[in-house]
Amino acid sequence: MRSKFFSSRIEKLAESKSIEIADKIRKMKREGIDVIELQTGEPDFATPQHIMEEAYNAMKEGYTHYTSSRGIPELREAISEKLRKDNKIDADPEKEIIVTPGAVHAVFSAILATINPGDEVIIPDPCWVVYPGCVKIAGGKLIRIPLNSEDNFELNIESIEDAITPRTKMLIINYPCNPTGTTLTLDKLKHIAEIAKEHDLLVLSDEIYEKILYDGLKHYSIGSLEGMKERTITINGFSKTYAMTGWRIGYASASSAIIDQMLKIQQYSVTCAPAFAQKAAIAALNGPKEPVHSMIKQYDQRRQLIVKRLNDINGIFCRKPTGTFYAFPNISELGISSIEFANFLLDKARVGVVPGSAYGQSGEGYVRLSFANSKENIEKAMERMEKLLGTKDV
Ligand code: PMP
Repeated sequence: MRSKFFSSRIEKLAESKSIEIADKIRKMKREGIDVIELQTGEPDFATPQHIMEEAYNAMKEGYTHYTSSRGIPELREAISEKLRKDNKIDADPEKEIIVTPGAVHAVFSAILATINPGDEVIIPDPCWVVYPGCVKIAGGKLIRIPLNSEDNFELNIESIEDAITPRTKMLIINYPCNPTGTTLTLDKLKHIAEIAKEHDLLVLSDEIYEKILYDGLKHYSIGSLEGMKERTITINGFSKTYAMTGWRIGYASASSAIIDQMLKIQQYSVTCAPAFAQKAAIAALNGPKEPVHSMIKQYDQRRQLIVKRLNDINGIFCRKPTGTFYAFPNISELGISSIEFANFLLDKARVGVVPGSAYGQSGEGYVRLSFANSKENIEKAMERMEKLLGTKDV
């Protein structure tokens, strides 16, 4: 429905294809249909006990009101310490950190605070659906650089350089990457930093999956590299590492000038992140890490399982992701589009996946399956898919 009451900027935004599938699954579940949900982008584990207890204590202590829009000082200090230790980023807790209701709001306000209508923003394709959405809301121009699986979906340095024009303002990177599960080497990151400095670009680096890494890989932050601090907005949060998606808590670190701009958006939109969630986030950062290690160990076992089982199925070819909890197999041999395949799988096998085209044109021919789900559910989903598609002859 068109209406004079709609904002044309928002009216033009299409709803994400991942939301369409999620809605269809919700409807099927309401009708009592047993769908195995491998489309969801969130940990299946409960939030670790000590974090929940801290939230409960915080509520009893009165952390049930507004806080400073930047976030409570103790949390900003804990984040600053974490950034220094884990990411080699030096961020002043007073001025260079903002706590947001979810990392998604940090992305939203970072883009809105920096992008003018007509500014060009380079994003890898495929990428998480929120980046293009926010760039469009800001009136920016999306410049997508296609990635391909032969390069392991890594950013190609030449294609970044080819995409740069005098209007380019920002490059968005997300490693480990949702949806491809790819990580970047330090060398590549250094190359990207050189390009950003040479062309005077901002870099938005979404590092929310930094801890969900496999095969002994180490995460590096572009904001820690020489000359990058003032041009990098580092985004992170608690949803993935600590299984805290429902708590709505994330953060950004950047120069004080950029944080001040983001602060205005926070003040005029959401005020602050939930107070007790901020207290719980301190417990997440400073508390025992054993629950996190245990979750990652289990993701790794599920990763081995799902990749092996997917590669046994007719027409499906899956690389082993090196980070995140997503498998991103190629399904192009089946001769149908990723949306058709996702719907086919849902209708015939009751398995929910996200069509790769939801993440951009280069995601066509792929689907995203989350292995943040129990081993039993993953096995059941693979059995259903094998039954529907058959197995490869060995
Ligand atoms: N960044 C990426 C790459 C994500 O996949 C997600 C969640 N899907 C987020 C940020 C948002 O996390 P949060 O729950 O903290 O808003």
